[in-house]
Amino acid sequence: MAVSVTIHRGANQIGGTITEIATEKTHILIDCGAALPGSYGTVRDEDIVKMLQEKRFDAVLFTHYHGDHTGLMDRIPVDVPLYMDEVMKTILTTLNQYTRNEAMNALLKNADGRIRTFLPPKAFTVGDMTVTPFFVDHSAYHANMFLIEAGGQTILVSGDFRSAGYLGKSLQEIPKLLEKFHKTVDVLLCEGTMMTRSVKAERLLNEWELQKEAETFLQSHRQAYVLCSSTNFDTISSIYHAARKNGLKVYANGYICAMLHTFSDIAGKQTGLYRLKGVRHSRQLTDEAKDGFVLLLGTCLGMSPRGLDYFYDFLTDGVEEPWLIYSMWKGYLNPKHSAYNSHLAGFVSRFGERVNYAHTSGHADRKTLAHFIEAVKPQKYILPFHTENAEGFRGLGVEDKFKAMVKVMKDGELIRIG
Ligand SMILES: [Zn+2]
Ligand SMILES: [Zn+2]
Repeated sequence: MAVSVTIHRGANQIGGTITEIATEKTHILIDCGAALPGSYGTVRDEDIVKMLQEKRFDAVLFTHYHGDHTGLMDRIPVDVPLYMDEVMKTILTTLNQYTRNEAMNALLKNADGRIRTFLPPKAFTVGDMTVTPFFVDHSAYHANMFLIEAGGQTILVSGDFRSAGYLGKSLQEIPKLLEKFHKTVDVLLCEGTMMTRSVKAERLLNEWELQKEAETFLQSHRQAYVLCSSTNFDTISSIYHAARKNGLKVYANGYICAMLHTFSDIAGKQTGLYRLKGVRHSRQLTDEAKDGFVLLLGTCLGMSPRGLDYFYDFLTDGVEEPWLIYSMWKGYLNPKHSAYNSHLAGFVSRFGERVNYAHTSGHADRKTLAHFIEAVKPQKYILPFHTENAEGFRGLGVEDKFKAMVKVMKDGELIRIG
């Protein structure tokens, strides 16, 4: 009995994640993402699509809805079942109503029952494998880790995770669940985004700090635009409550309003923190309303320079002192980084000095990674992925035995366990 792990992409890059776990009988993939701008390896999206057509997979399991984990979902052969969290399916469905990707829209309608949803931590089986999903904190709401029992081995696939969000305690729950279910982890596949993405000059806040800072900021800056991912519901919640405490109305375009509506319907049932009611459509942002407002812009990452120029002039018309809250990774604004987005940088520069940088990372920092590894106590291997610095795992503040377990993989390389 044995199981094999192949990181098809992600051994040396952030995003575009796709990992295979296989026994003699069963072959599954975890995530099927598109490459992220600014972090490319040697495996192109087209190489992955070719592999999907040539090999036979029994299922693809998705950890969360971010494009670097789901971007190639519509290229998976139609007879392969797809497993995802019910919440992820709902959020993707709303998102796709605006992206007009017909293949994805048809897929998400699920007329053929190809999408099978799971509810963490309830286990399910695929062939001779048992999969237990564990809910975990990330900048995508309702992300999951997967504990996979196959070929007599137990593999924990981390997906993307952190502990700096409102649901950060979920990370501490995972070792407790492992104990409760009497599971020992042989192999830990661990994401390592922050091995390189923690820019020294960037102050990283947790979500509570961000909300507090935004609240103070908006007391004296009452005309604010916000750059933040429309699916980063934690940060949007922080800004929303900071605005409301200052008596400011929140505006957004139709797409973001729809996303927040879907999110509030799901997550608002659990906590008032996620009840984001009354976000208004930006067309209601009249000249009178411009005396005090917060306008959510999304990321603006895909916009053209002309579009952004027009956008700035149109949005700030009649606004005396437009301020920008920049709540995204700063690498997009750094000309030295391969993910530099000159269009976005140009847009931000139009605000001059009137920019407030306040960001919570979606990923675990080194300290959190070290805590997590020591709490999970893998027995055989630590396989870094979703990272540009796999070697860096050997420099984490963990016991030597864990450092010795780190195996740096290459894209496409297979490791057999057991
Ligand atoms: Zn990712
Ligand atoms: Zn992610």
